[in-house]
Amino acid sequence: MAQQQTITLIGGGLVGALLAQQLAGRGFAVEVFEKRPDPRIAGFVGGRSINLALAERGLQALREAGLAQDVLQRAVMMRGRMVHTRDGRSGLQRYGVDDSEVIWSVSRGALNMLLLDAAEAAGVRFHFGQSLVNADFDARRIRLADERGVERDLDAPVIIGADGAGSALRAAMNAHTPLGERVDALGHAYKELEIPSAGVLAADLVGRSGGHDQFALEPHALHIWPRGGYMCIALPNTEGSFTVTLFLPAQGAHPSFATLPDTQAAHAFFEEDFPDLLPLIPDFAADYEGHPVGTLSTLYLQRWHLDGRALLVGDAAHAIVPFHGQGMNCGFEDTVVLASLLAASPNDTADAFAEFQRIRQPNADAIAAMALENYVEMRDSVADPHYLAKRELGAL
Ligand code: FAD
Repeated sequence: MAQQQTITLIGGGLVGALLAQQLAGRGFAVEVFEKRPDPRIAGFVGGRSINLALAERGLQALREAGLAQDVLQRAVMMRGRMVHTRDGRSGLQRYGVDDSEVIWSVSRGALNMLLLDAAEAAGVRFHFGQSLVNADFDARRIRLADERGVERDLDAPVIIGADGAGSALRAAMNAHTPLGERVDALGHAYKELEIPSAGVLAADLVGRSGGHDQFALEPHALHIWPRGGYMCIALPNTEGSFTVTLFLPAQGAHPSFATLPDTQAAHAFFEEDFPDLLPLIPDFAADYEGHPVGTLSTLYLQRWHLDGRALLVGDAAHAIVPFHGQGMNCGFEDTVVLASLLAASPNDTADAFAEFQRIRQPNADAIAAMALENYVEMRDSVADPHYLAKRELGAL
């Protein structure tokens, strides 16, 4: 019976926490093992982007989980992309004709903590500071390590991996039965910088807030500085700051992260290429030095599951590049589909997992391709006069 079935979930990030909440709501006993400490006690340890764009697909999953309103209260609406051209002009390209077609900027940490609270309220048991080390699928056991490296083994007849792009469960599954894994590196990388709220910026910059007291730029937009082969974007945060992400080739001719090894070189590059953005980043040197360069790739797998014993979801199954802002949204959709399939056949996980892959893989492949295409659109086409003329005519 569904009420007795235990599911072991690896990873309590965005997708793991939402999936856990939905499975518990359908009567499963859910045990989540999460590598990091509890962010509600220890503070959120990021690693990936500070904020994310939540779109209709992810929002629909949150509605089905009964969490959409709570999340939207902590989000900033983005009506379109505000394109900042080289000559300092800017213009809003709306996503739709009115505010029924918008996306939302949410803090990764705040969203993760909200989802953890919701899952716990639904009866999920979280075990923080517990890292999956390996799995013995024939014995149906997993090996975990705590923060001191002390290992222990546990029974886990049904395991779901929501442990992200570098999934340890995927590695263990692949060692048991090859999953047909391919990782395509994009060759471009990213670094995050911060525009503080207008109050923190010098008084002469406050005048740029366009009537908004708190924000140094229009708050209800996803800002893009397209520069052909590279770009900066900025997403608003509720307290008035923006998280800026610089996307640039990792290696090769200037400009690339390889040709901007230090703050001085990076500062000169921003003066040349992003002169209107640079004054909004007062801690440029500290941000550039202190924040890591993140790599970007697309993960393709032929198999997402090991019969009914183990399954991968979210980035662990289909990590994509972030240019459509759809990785989390796609992972949230996974949770709705999987929870309802498992609820329909709780004792036949092999069937539910196979059906899950059959339904979700074409969607994941489609968004992976669209995300790659959108990088070219964001960094290049949005500033192209032909593209703008087509938008004016309603063709885009
Ligand atoms: P993760 O968020 O990676 O969570 C995995 C969890 O598993 C973590 O908590 C981790 O600590 C834990 N874990 C890892 N290994 C182990 C282990 N061995 N044992 C136990 N636990 C483990 N998506 C969007 O929809 N919109 C956006 O705007 C957007 N912007 C992005 C910008 C950037 C720069 C990047 C890199 C990604 C962006 N994404 C965006 C994609 C989004 O971040 C991912 O799709 C999403 O985080 C996937 O969630 P997940 O839970 O599957 O994996």
